Amino acid sequence: MYQVTKQFGFSYGHRLIKHKGKCERYHGHNGLVEVVCEGPELNENRMLIDFDIISKALKSWIDEELDHRMILNEKDPMTELLTKKGEKFLSMPDDPTAEALARLIFDHAQKSGLPVKQVTVWETPTSHASYSR
Ligand SMILES: [Zn+2]
Repeated sequence: MYQVTKQFGFSYGHRLIKHKGKCERYHGHNGLVEVVCEGPELNENRMLIDFDIISKALKSWIDEELDHRMILNEKDPMTELLTKKGEKFLSMPDDPTAEALARLIFDHAQKSGLPVKQVTVWETPTSHASYSR
């Protein structure tokens, strides 16, 4: 098997309303997304997939939907205020954990046609969560 990995940075704010600890407070991360594509064959250019194709599929979506956004549980009371103020934010059906963000990005990568194997979201240089199928 061949694997190709591409990283993207994004900054976001969130909080985990179910968490009993400091993550229940609003805070931010300079996150890093790592997308691993995998496949058994190389193309005529001797590549599994061009890094540029991964970028085109994900970079503008991450920039538009995730970067410099509040990412909130749809039950978070802050969503009502942000909606009233016309602020753009992303709401998720449950707490926006690193695991949930990895799953969200994985699903988008797969819908974009990438041969995605795994997505990892680094919240800090020492803490990350991954999703794969
Ligand atoms: Zn956090």
